Amino acid sequence: ASADDDYVLELEHISKRFRNLVVCDDISFKIKRGETLGLVGESGSGKSTLARCIAGLTLPDSGIIRLNGKDLSLRIERRSMASVRAVQMVFQSPENTLNPSFSVRAILGRAISRLAQKAVSPDRLEKLAENVRLPQVFLDRRPRQLSGGQKQRVAIARAFAGQPELVLCDEPVSALDTSVQAGILYLLTRLQNEERVSYLFISHDLGVVRYLADRIGVMYLGQMLEIGTSADIFAGPRHPYADALLRASSLDGGETSPLPAAMPDAQVTEQSCRFAARCPRAMATCISAPPPVREGENGHQIRCHLTLEQLCHPGTPTPVSI
Ligand code: SF4
Ligand code: MG
Repeated sequence: ASADDDYVLELEHISKRFRNLVVCDDISFKIKRGETLGLVGESGSGKSTLARCIAGLTLPDSGIIRLNGKDLSLRIERRSMASVRAVQMVFQSPENTLNPSFSVRAILGRAISRLAQKAVSPDRLEKLAENVRLPQVFLDRRPRQLSGGQKQRVAIARAFAGQPELVLCDEPVSALDTSVQAGILYLLTRLQNEERVSYLFISHDLGVVRYLADRIGVMYLGQMLEIGTSADIFAGPRHPYADALLRASSLDGGETSPLPAAMPDAQVTEQSCRFAARCPRAMATCISAPPPVREGENGHQIRCHLTLEQLCHPGTPTPVSI
């Protein structure tokens, strides 16, 4: 295979329901080696469920997940140790995943023996801490004695203990102060450059994702509404929802304009565009038929009744308003 189709992760038609709610609706995408796919959307859009399916923490109802070409559609306890090591997760709140009664040394030592399957030596521990720029003095502390940013560094060190190929980052900086966020994002970027790891980077904030994603997927109520390279998405054409997210982004520089209205229940929107109830450009067809997927350059896809030409020009009058 050429470097161009060196995919670490391939998702084909992943669907997941909880009772009657479609949490992930026919999601397909691929992530290349060393690439970052940013996944954005508000809470409830299905991003975390998708990550949990990839990590094996929950099973999709249908669809295929491949890691390095091998089917991975199994729960984590039935996966090979090799695939468990290869796919790691970093969560929003490290305090929930760092055992409070263990020292950092014990937490990282366990990761070294379990994920790297190597003997735990002071050298390896110090190297792992150094790799995430965590001063050695913190090795003997417990999680509660660390700041939020330091805890996230421990969680990242743990994820990288066994040289992962894919790290699923679920809102890893959302709970941190802006000044601390930058340090963690820089750390993730440096680790990626050094280890050629791939990231699925989940955030509700398009501005954060813009900083490090090569490609961006925009999810809403379980559906992928737009996916494309960061450059193409920011240059436009852009899905009306992605447009609204960008305007609401904290790093956009301009004044923030929060999205209007709460999210409608997914059940009532299955035959329409899921964003219709909140879309400033909605037309009559948007509530009577599911929108087609518009194909742009470089694999750019936008699910909308508006044409790419119309999406390019936000001022284009819409035929019928509702
Ligand atoms: Fe808006 Fe219609 Fe496009 Fe949905 S299909 S995003 S409602 S214009
Ligand atoms: Mg979430």
